[in-house]
Amino acid sequence: MLVFVLNAGSSSLKYQLIDAKTSEVKASGIVERIGIDGVLKHEIGNNRKLTFEAHIQTHKEAIELILQTLTHDDTKIIDSIDEIDAIGHRVAHGGEYFKNSVVVDDEVIKKIEELIPLAPLHNPANILGMKICRELMPNTPNVAVFDTAFHQTMPEVHFLFPVPHEDYTEHHLRKYGFHGTSHYYVSNEAIKLLENKKDLRIIVCHLGNGSSVCAVRDGKSLNTTMGLTPLGGLMMGTRSGDIDPGIIPYLMEKKNMDTHQIIDYLNKKSGILGVSGISSDLRDIISAAKDGDQRAQVTIDMMCNRVKKYICSYAGLLGGVDALCFTAGIGENSDLIREKVCHNLEFMGIEIDKDKNSSKESKVKEISKDSSKTKIFVIPTNEELVIAQDTYKLVG
Ligand code: ADP
Repeated sequence: MLVFVLNAGSSSLKYQLIDAKTSEVKASGIVERIGIDGVLKHEIGNNRKLTFEAHIQTHKEAIELILQTLTHDDTKIIDSIDEIDAIGHRVAHGGEYFKNSVVVDDEVIKKIEELIPLAPLHNPANILGMKICRELMPNTPNVAVFDTAFHQTMPEVHFLFPVPHEDYTEHHLRKYGFHGTSHYYVSNEAIKLLENKKDLRIIVCHLGNGSSVCAVRDGKSLNTTMGLTPLGGLMMGTRSGDIDPGIIPYLMEKKNMDTHQIIDYLNKKSGILGVSGISSDLRDIISAAKDGDQRAQVTIDMMCNRVKKYICSYAGLLGGVDALCFTAGIGENSDLIREKVCHNLEFMGIEIDKDKNSSKESKVKEISKDSSKTKIFVIPTNEELVIAQDTYKLVG
């Protein structure tokens, strides 16, 4: 069963063509800078890479070009788009409506539209992707897979904010959490590694450009660090994460900013970029710190301390930790960050093995000492595979 997985952003489109039964990725790619110079980077299998400078101006042109690339000339993988059995869409915000993935129909699109105020940057692009696919492939079913759905199992005590209750009942103000597909995939892989034992207590650290930690009990999300929006929780590439809310009016006054400007400031100019003054890319910060840059070192320490804070907090909520998992760009690739995060956690049974941790293998690996009560795993995330498999389950 061939599933076209689509992650539509405001100016980019990521996609994969996956055989949902065998998990084989037939082709993948990204269209970036839609509306500017619209470049398509396409990969066949995982060896042949091509770049098309296509000056793509709209999302529709982008999807048309992807489909053409999949079906024509020497980049051909399938004879016709009719061979695509279903389309799986990554959708940022499913609010309280969607606790699981769903087949897309008019009613589903209407509900995702209603949620735009909660995800103004992401949901409109996701809806656009669905509408274009329905237009270009009218006989192919579409499935929506939500970044928030996995966290819908969080109990009230963890999803409510300490503000008047009517803000929840009237304005839907609560913690939703994001990266749900990744937290689900990684915790599920950890459960398999722990022989499917019951009632496992798992903490997943998804550390990428956007980052979040999730406490998982018996396969279900118990708590997570992102909140109403993806701005909450950890310090990220350009996002501040949790700050004293009093900072917002203070900065607005001092820097003469309006609501839009302060949100932009906290989303795009803060976090690793803001503190270091160098870059949002952690590799640049690590290399600057090696060259003796003090602020870069402080940036790394701040970032790791915040991850550590949530690991300890969630260990308390779970009453212990059977597995601590690292994933995403930083979590999968930086032994330095993993070591710093785990440093001093030996008292609670988290003991990292330096040699195993520094191995450069890019697949699933266990990096804890044999004596460690908590298993520590590096598990590369695979959100696209979850989307393809959910799509297969619903329409296969
Ligand atoms: P996104 O949230 O955009 O999907 P990724 O999961 O790809 O982001 O993670 C991007 C982050 O991973 C960047 O900060 C990048 O510097 C970091 N990263 C990638 N490889 C390494 C590495 N070897 N060491 C440290 N950081 C890394």
